Amino acid sequence: MADNSDDVRPRTATGIEHWDHEADVVVAGFGVAGAAAAVAAAQAGADVLVLERTGGWGGAAAMSGGFIYMGGGTPLQKACGFDDTVDAMKAFMKAALGPGVDEDKIDAYCEGSVDHYHWLADEIGVPFKESFWGEPGWEPPGDDGLQYTGGENAAPFNATIPPAPRGHVPQMSDKRTGEQGGGYMLMKPLTDTAAALGVRAEYDMRVQTLITDEEGRVVGIAAKRFGKDVTIRARRGVVLATGSFAYNDTMVESYAPRLKGRPAASIEEHDGRAIRMAQALGADLAHMDATEVAFFCDPQLFVRGILVNGRGQRYINEDTYPGRVGQATLIENDNKAYLVIDEAAYEEGLSRPTSSPQLRHQPKWVAETVPELEAEMGLPAGALQATVEVYNRHAAGGEDPLFGKKPEWVRPIGSPVAAVDLRGMTGGFTLGGLRTSVDSEVLHVTGEPIPGLFAAGRCTAGVCAGGYASGASLGDGSFFGRRAGRAAAGA
Ligand SMILES: Cc1cc2nc3c(=O)[nH]c(=O)nc-3n(C[C@H](O)[C@H](O)[C@H](O)COP(=O)(O)OP(=O)(O)OC[C@H]3O[C@@H](n4cnc5c(N)ncnc54)[C@H](O)[C@@H]3O)c2cc1C
Repeated sequence: MADNSDDVRPRTATGIEHWDHEADVVVAGFGVAGAAAAVAAAQAGADVLVLERTGGWGGAAAMSGGFIYMGGGTPLQKACGFDDTVDAMKAFMKAALGPGVDEDKIDAYCEGSVDHYHWLADEIGVPFKESFWGEPGWEPPGDDGLQYTGGENAAPFNATIPPAPRGHVPQMSDKRTGEQGGGYMLMKPLTDTAAALGVRAEYDMRVQTLITDEEGRVVGIAAKRFGKDVTIRARRGVVLATGSFAYNDTMVESYAPRLKGRPAASIEEHDGRAIRMAQALGADLAHMDATEVAFFCDPQLFVRGILVNGRGQRYINEDTYPGRVGQATLIENDNKAYLVIDEAAYEEGLSRPTSSPQLRHQPKWVAETVPELEAEMGLPAGALQATVEVYNRHAAGGEDPLFGKKPEWVRPIGSPVAAVDLRGMTGGFTLGGLRTSVDSEVLHVTGEPIPGLFAAGRCTAGVCAGGYASGASLGDGSFFGRRAGRAAAGA
């Protein structure tokens, strides 16, 4: 094969004289979706080989915070005193993760969520501590096991859908966010289980293209190892699980341009290759414009003030899931945000525990009055004054009729007053990808499954079509990864 690493066109098996490796199920990528697929395929009796581009297992998942979105009445939810139902979980996910969610996927995900919890906790050995973290924040600073991670208990959802926390975090001490977070304690037991089941792994193996037989069935993978071509035969099926396209600038520019130059919560290996390899076989795509968006400010601070856009106007209830704040800022408000907060509220926020002390930014402007602050910020005269006047008028009665922030967080803004400059403080990863069935078959543009080809994780469009909840990626990656492994094994 010519040394053209950008050539994603499929190869035909007829031209291949020698297979370097062979297995029933071949999995590309040893992150969360790949590990779940490998374990499930091996549990179904298949001989499994995982091909991983880096020198070890883990992917973004091992660096991640570890939230796994599960609910419908898991043992951890019950132990922490929360009632949840499959119906409430479905209603929330359909309302918050759209528009345009795959309803069948969400139904399957919610109906299977308690079983998935048992699989992770009892069969794989992922530890969950029976304690709830209820403070505003991106993650629990300690090893608590459960947190609200989607805005379930905030407007607009809490008015109509019974809220329950669904962010389940594996227990781990000495977390180092971005290096070895709670996600490590998901990946370690998953990969240990894979090894115990006889799953083989080949590292430093960069998957390049798919290999098909004369009928168009996927029967293998072509890869590169230290520049050398390697061929791998899959007797039953191939599972693609190589992550998002957040680090492929061309794809980001084409599909999700607001994210250009700001990839976050992903790794450089997320270059969209699996998506393009499958596209070259006619695979369909979904929700390529959808993005997770992190907002780089400590929620303990911004929940106690008001967030305004470049025109000095509020645009969201500040007590919601910070990822919703990120999306609203980047997508709807031109990536411009300021936190307007009085000194007492700022000091109170600083005194509270957090997992993100690095996101406790100093105010850029400080003034005795809002008109002075507004002038210093360079906002049109009267714009911020009108915003604060309306907010304070209702806050005096503990209400926020504009956005529905809960009374416990609504307090009139006093003096001295400051503004924190949060323009450009967002980053994220892509949520769109290959269109797959509820059994993780990769679908052709005709709607038919591509024989022999399965996929899961962030190279697919999962349960999120637009909105996001923390835990949805490790959640749908592990859930639909399992289904991919089972289906590829022919179980
Ligand atoms: C700091 C941080 C915090 C996060 N917090 C959370 C959280 O709390 N909850 C949550 O749900 N999500 C979280 N995420 C996101 C989540 O980790 C990812 O979205 C998720 O791991 C995606 O799963 P995946 O299996 O698709 O990809 P990964 O877990 O990244 O696995 C993909 C694997 O494929 C490999 N690969 C890539 N290309 C090739 C190739 N050509 N050939 C062979 N192998 C290849 C990669 O090296 C990688 O090992 C976080 C991410 C980060 C970085």
